[in-house]
Amino acid sequence: MVTHAFFELLKQFFKDPVTNRFPVTNTPHNMHQTLKAVEAGKAQLNPSVPIPPGFRGKIKYDRDACIGCQMCIKVCPSQTIEFIPDDRKVMFYMSRCTFCQMCVDICPKDCIRMTDQFIMANLDKYGDDMIVKDSGPFVAQEKKEAEAMKVEEEAPAPKRKKPRAPSKKAKPSGKKLKAPARKGKASDEKPVRRAPPRKRK
Ligand code: SF4
Ligand code: SF4
Repeated sequence: MVTHAFFELLKQFFKDPVTNRFPVTNTPHNMHQTLKAVEAGKAQLNPSVPIPPGFRGKIKYDRDACIGCQMCIKVCPSQTIEFIPDDRKVMFYMSRCTFCQMCVDICPKDCIRMTDQFIMANLDKYGDDMIVKDSGPFVAQEKKEAEAMKVEEEAPAPKRKKPRAPSKKAKPSGKKLKAPARKGKASDEKPVRRAPPRKRK
């Protein structure tokens, strides 16, 4: 048992890191100076680790598409979502969110989504960055794009002209073909005169 755990521990030294050493390899003593050095081109930030598909980051919300049914509020386990009765819309307090995605799954209008955004550190948990009120009309935009793609796919492909197959027999053109001129035509040749036969003595 101990041996197995030891080998598992040893294996970790040779594996690639699964987390991002953010923002620089060794944690600096003074972050402000590090950021200034980055701006001046004297230091470089580590490239971020690729975000896996299906990542549950900060919520985005299409206010225009929302019908105010409050289904998201009913399923939310952490009271992140607040109903605005005057507008019949909702808003999200991200400092309370547990990123469970229940609201996304239940929304009948598909107007809540989880994004790739994971940097949400803020001193003020009720600051503007930490409250999601409207992320733009992405539902209508996506619908438009999907319809445009559908029209493109359904459009018939332009017909191509078939190249004419060459005929096996050449058709007579109706014109009489001239016979090739013979060598030494009769008209050109001079008549050969023969000598008269000799009389016998
Ligand atoms: S992801 Fe979960 S916790 Fe966050 S708002 Fe939606 S239901 Fe609430
Ligand atoms: S479930 Fe969707 S449509 Fe209903 S209130 Fe929440 S965000 Fe709006």
